[in-house]
Amino acid sequence: MEVEEPASGGVYASLAAGGVADVDRAIAAAHGALEDWGRAGAESRAACLDRLADLVKRDAEALARAESVDSGKPISLARSVEIPRAQTNLRFFAQQVRRWNEQVLTLESGARSRVLRRPLGVAACISPWNLPLYLFTWKIAPALAAGCTVVAKPSEVTPATATMLAALAQEAGFPAGVLNVVHGRGAETGAALVAHPGIAAITFTGGTTTGEQIARDAAPRFRRLSLELGGKNAAIVFADAAEQSLDTLVRASFQNQGQICLCASRLLVERCAFESLTRAFVGRVRALRLGDPLDESTEQGALVSAAHLAKVESAVTRARAEGGKLECGGRRPSELPTRCSGGYFFEPTVFTGLGPDCVTNQEEIFGPVVSIMPFDSEDEAVAIANGTRYGLAASVFCADSGRANRVAARLDVGTVWVNCWLVRDLRAPFGGWKDSGVGREGGDDALRFFAESTTVCELAGAARA
Ligand code: NDP
Repeated sequence: MEVEEPASGGVYASLAAGGVADVDRAIAAAHGALEDWGRAGAESRAACLDRLADLVKRDAEALARAESVDSGKPISLARSVEIPRAQTNLRFFAQQVRRWNEQVLTLESGARSRVLRRPLGVAACISPWNLPLYLFTWKIAPALAAGCTVVAKPSEVTPATATMLAALAQEAGFPAGVLNVVHGRGAETGAALVAHPGIAAITFTGGTTTGEQIARDAAPRFRRLSLELGGKNAAIVFADAAEQSLDTLVRASFQNQGQICLCASRLLVERCAFESLTRAFVGRVRALRLGDPLDESTEQGALVSAAHLAKVESAVTRARAEGGKLECGGRRPSELPTRCSGGYFFEPTVFTGLGPDCVTNQEEIFGPVVSIMPFDSEDEAVAIANGTRYGLAASVFCADSGRANRVAARLDVGTVWVNCWLVRDLRAPFGGWKDSGVGREGGDDALRFFAESTTVCELAGAARA
């Protein structure tokens, strides 16, 4: 398969397209390694993950560059956020499994129950293109820590850093067969992985439609399933925090060109601050530096592919047709460095004038397109925020902490940020309500997902009696 650089539109690498036979071989290798990896014990597995984290740190610059070239994201973002987070994911689950003790329960009769946690089996880890290494490590690290072996399929659109990580895993001393990476198209390679009888669990991050398909394919075999899907996240801005929220709102809306499942794509602003905030926000958005992702000063890079650019453009056309007022953006940029003239760039785009029920405010665009709406009361803000089929995340900006927390507790989403965005404590559960997903990742939830329990109940002295 050809791999394109989104910033130039040119093919820059080629990739082995894994087929069904490759999936079979990877799963066979993972089964071959399963028993020893499980028996190796938590400390030994954690040490492997720590060594891998050290190597990610050593090669951080090369990984950041590869991520930027492969996905079109600004290198400054890959360098400052995503590659460091990949390293943190590995270290976090190493640490987490070290202190993940077996549960012991005692009854007055003297019966003692020990809850053994045993590796579930071979885990299929399927990850998307928007945060390639960040989400790849977020999936494989808890699986490996818990003693599962892994067959992972990264997005074919951004295969570079997963390939590099697989080589680093060998250097880190992971035994052969413990971590297997199979590249290939989702509909073929991904589907073959999901359908394979040798898989015990599937953890998937990606679009809601793909998630539906995977759930359908996995259901008849009772595979354990974790789905992290799309979102249509609201940021609720009360007037008393409007000015202070601006920097965070711009970042929350347009980081990684809006291609983060947690980006705020609907800004709900208290009516008395609506006009001034919209003016100030649009001013900031116009000033974002769009350009070559490899340029250190670039704040907005390219969208990931020609197909995704076309999807975003059609969403903008629809927003206009729905009566949206274009405040800025809405087109491909006219001035780009020569190297980027064939790239997949789109200006950060802001609409006002769209009602909460229109398609633009209901369906995920997953690009640099934001809609701003006014609200008059707390109840109305909550109703609009909750009024989509998604329930991944939300933000509340408010100077009154009591009010902010009251609103946060009414939002039907997995994560609410109050006066911040994308701050993550990896011990906390992460996941979506409604069509945003099934299950929780993070902390012990992630380790539990990859483990099966056996309760051993022993009555002390019973054998002698
Ligand atoms: P997709 O659903 O298209 O793909 C995700 C992964 O699944 C890719 O590796 C893809 O392979 C693979 N895949 C596609 N079809 C199948 C199939 N039938 N069986 C098995 N695997 C398959 O998502 P995108 O890559 O386009 O990612 C964007 C989406 O991910 C957005 O909707 C976004 O909201 C969501 N997302 C959710 C997050 C969350 O935590 N909730 C975080 C990040 C993104 P290939 O690319 O090779 O086709």
